[in-house]
Amino acid sequence: MRDEYDVIVVGAGPGGSIAARTAAEGCDVLLIEKRQEIGAPVRCAEGAPRDQLLKVSRYIEPDKKWIASEINGIRLNAPDGTMFEITQEMVEQLTGTEGPFGYTLDRKIFDRQLAKDAARAGAHVMVRTRATGLIIEDSHVKGVKLNRLGEDFEVRSKVVIGADGVESQVGRWGGINTTLKLKDIGSCTQYYLENIDVAENVFDFYIGSEIPGGYAWIFPKGRRAANVGLGVLGSKLSAKRPIDYLNEFVAKKCPGGQPVELVMGGTPLSDALKTFVSNGLMLVGDAARHTEPITGSGIPSAIRDGTIAGEVAQKAVHQNDSSVRVLRDYETRWRNSFGRIHWGMYKMKEFIMKLSDDELNRISRVFQGIMPEEASIRGVTMRLLKKDPKLLLTIRHLLF
Ligand code: FAD
Repeated sequence: MRDEYDVIVVGAGPGGSIAARTAAEGCDVLLIEKRQEIGAPVRCAEGAPRDQLLKVSRYIEPDKKWIASEINGIRLNAPDGTMFEITQEMVEQLTGTEGPFGYTLDRKIFDRQLAKDAARAGAHVMVRTRATGLIIEDSHVKGVKLNRLGEDFEVRSKVVIGADGVESQVGRWGGINTTLKLKDIGSCTQYYLENIDVAENVFDFYIGSEIPGGYAWIFPKGRRAANVGLGVLGSKLSAKRPIDYLNEFVAKKCPGGQPVELVMGGTPLSDALKTFVSNGLMLVGDAARHTEPITGSGIPSAIRDGTIAGEVAQKAVHQNDSSVRVLRDYETRWRNSFGRIHWGMYKMKEFIMKLSDDELNRISRVFQGIMPEEASIRGVTMRLLKKDPKLLLTIRHLLF
């Protein structure tokens, strides 16, 4: 066991494993994970748009081993049952790409594969090893305090990457304010259900006031199985718990389904942090609150962050300077490429939360039967003008 590395990555989720793999191309890397098994238990609905997943990392190639279902469309179900579908043809038209729109992953295999790849690239991986604090000298992070099987020890490094997920402590230990407001936390509960009638290649979303400030999902996982869950905004929680909403939803939509797994967890739905770097420290993925704030999808963003942070860590090690002056490059690259998009999504989330059931029903009615050739701002605007011009006024913020 060495007591010094160039880079220590805390957390072997997708963000941490990709950061470790990227940094390992030119540095000595230690990747630590508190759980005994990487990828389990799964706290995720495992859905990912293919384009986003592949675009964010040169390391990710579709692999049958971790693809549970290929997805060809998304259905949005309004409170009154009206539904409209975004088909693969529409996505192809919008993005100019071909192939399935997305996947339901098997994250037990996917996360483990990313960690294996990091190990093959040279990273030293330690499971059942928990970060308990940071070594900080002269306001500079110099390593991590660890506990493994009851034994405390310290490992020093030039750079620490905090990839410790939504409940991240690494940021707080390093002096970064990662506090989330209740209105920016999704409180999620999910069953993995077997023995249900489910559309095998479609993501289903259900919106409306029955699920306060959130939505329910059915993401198919192979034949007659699916992740069925929902998220409720923290600020809307009441005596009725997310599991109560979920049990009602399952009774209505998936009668007879057998819950083989129960998942509970939070997801950040916030605007970007003021900063997510400090001397010797970078935060990635959920720890940096970079999860997409409308849907709570955080796999692509964690991988994207891990890639950039891994590259910047390499640079800092080679320049022998891990001050915030050098690490800020990660933050600048993130803000230049995604900062505005993330901010726009956050504003959109705030807006969507205010839509009434009536407005959601009207939106669904307008877009029911939309054709691929209408999948553009112009096409959508024309459809609204024709079918419900008043609604265009209401939802113009979503379009322009
Ligand atoms: P994580 O995957 O959370 O990994 C963090 C790792 O750090 C964990 O392995 C943890 O054990 C480890 N760790 C934490 N603290 C320590 C410590 N002190 N020492 C050592 N190790 C530590 N996203 C999607 O894209 N699609 C979805 O369909 C989707 N569905 C979701 C459904 C639910 C119910 C929830 C809760 C989330 C969902 N998300 C989804 C969000 C997604 O799971 C996260 O955004 C994603 O996993 C973030 O990756 P990460 O690498 O940042 O963190």
